Amino acid sequence: MPTHLIWFRQDLRIQDNSALWHATQQGNPCIAVVILSPEQWKLHHDATCKINFYLRQLKTLQQQLLEKNIPLIVAQIEQWKDIANYMLTLTEQLSITDVYANAEYAVYEKKRDDATLKILSQHAKTLHLFQDHTLFPKGTIRTQNNQPYKVFTPFKKACFERLQHSMPQCYPDIEQQENITLPKDIQQVCLDDMLTHYPVSEQILQLWPVGEPVAHEKLNDFLQHNVKQYQDTRDFPAIQGTSRISAYLNIGMISARQCLQALFQPYHGEFVLSHKGDETWLTEILWREFYQHIMVDFPKVSKAKPFKDETNRLVWRDAPSDFEKWTQGQTGIPIVDAGMRELKQTGWMHNRVRMICAMFLTKNLLIDWREGERWFMQHLIDGELAANNGGWQWSASTGTDAAPYFRIFNPVTQSERFDPEGKYIKQWVPELASLQAKQIHAPFAHKIGYLDYPKPIVDLKSSRVRAIEAFKNL
Ligand SMILES: Cc1cc2nc3c(=O)[nH]c(=O)nc-3n(C[C@H](O)[C@H](O)[C@H](O)COP(=O)(O)OP(=O)(O)OC[C@H]3O[C@@H](n4cnc5c(N)ncnc54)[C@H](O)[C@@H]3O)c2cc1C
Repeated sequence: MPTHLIWFRQDLRIQDNSALWHATQQGNPCIAVVILSPEQWKLHHDATCKINFYLRQLKTLQQQLLEKNIPLIVAQIEQWKDIANYMLTLTEQLSITDVYANAEYAVYEKKRDDATLKILSQHAKTLHLFQDHTLFPKGTIRTQNNQPYKVFTPFKKACFERLQHSMPQCYPDIEQQENITLPKDIQQVCLDDMLTHYPVSEQILQLWPVGEPVAHEKLNDFLQHNVKQYQDTRDFPAIQGTSRISAYLNIGMISARQCLQALFQPYHGEFVLSHKGDETWLTEILWREFYQHIMVDFPKVSKAKPFKDETNRLVWRDAPSDFEKWTQGQTGIPIVDAGMRELKQTGWMHNRVRMICAMFLTKNLLIDWREGERWFMQHLIDGELAANNGGWQWSASTGTDAAPYFRIFNPVTQSERFDPEGKYIKQWVPELASLQAKQIHAPFAHKIGYLDYPKPIVDLKSSRVRAIEAFKNL
């Protein structure tokens, strides 16, 4: 019986994995492969902590697969342009005709898969691609005129209707297969050696443990203790009010289907929204879905282009020194500095603070959103093209269904509202720990003795007017 090959990418789990499940259902022996591409990671600005997280999870996946008698080949091909040829060589070496993988939709991912599909089919081999990363297949959530949605609320409404009729189901667990050994001459990479090139702090290792059970524990813990209050707590960065599963979702350690099944488990999998918290959290999962669908329907967003073409004409400031201060958490605006320092130390930043920091960069500093987008990718453990681009273009008012350009967050007001006691600021900006709650959001506006903390690098009022003028002129 010919062997099947399962190609893992951003789907590092054995439960509810479409491609893995389909590959193992034919009764054929299966081998798995994952291809590491350090040069490509650099081109995509992937953060060291994200790569480290991926490699650590890969080690646990390799072990889990072995328990099912599926050996995992860990290969290294520097750039994706060379992957099609590698896949041909590997399938020839292993006498494989059928390769199974979950589809990926960003421009370079698609190019890689199209090239592989082509070369394999020229040699009478097939690459079977499955829908896995999202709840609904791309191109299936459409307006009445069969157009993609550009606005989130009607998109969400359409998703709710779909969920009422058919809830996405998880695949059953796969069976253990007959023992299979790899030929000795297959070239492999040692994951432990690879990990030494992507070192992270002890703090990051503790914050972001790996393994499918860990991802499910995080999710279940959140659903048990936090989801009911989610709509009231999710905007407060000093409170652990959100699930913190984005990094797990993005490398596929857990699936969006599993999140939904866990959310609706108390209602036996029926689409029942009995709490505002459930609905609000589901809405966030659908924001993820929305940006994924936008990326497929409007590929320009993954080519560093704004969604709104007219914003191409916006003249951004060339201000490397301001940008540097923003990246280092030295802007003199405490909530912004707290967020930027949290990002650097932990690989993560609270969503409310992401919006504040992104708006401060693109509006008050009038610096191109693409610079901020890149910095986030270079530091986020959950860095993901569609969501990151969506978040940045929303904040910069260049994106689909974005914040209107004249509605600019005042970071001080945001800070007073969402971190009223300054707990979050004190955690990340210890220089301000001695300040009272009423002073901490804007120390520059109070008479305080010497502080080892910078004055604001920009005047919030005049920079707001400058941003509005720049957009108005478009
Ligand atoms: C400027 C900016 C950049 C961002 N970059 C990323 C990124 O690179 N990767 C990423 O996964 N998210 C990104 N987000 C979205 C959001 O900040 C994170 O998904 C969220 O903070 C993750 O925390 P959580 O898992 O606790 O989320 P929860 O509040 O528990 O939400 C559950 C899940 O819903 C999804 N989600 C929530 N909010 C959003 C949103 N606004 N857009 C898309 N999906 C969402 C995530 O998958 C998240 O894990 C960005 C937002 C902004 C404003």
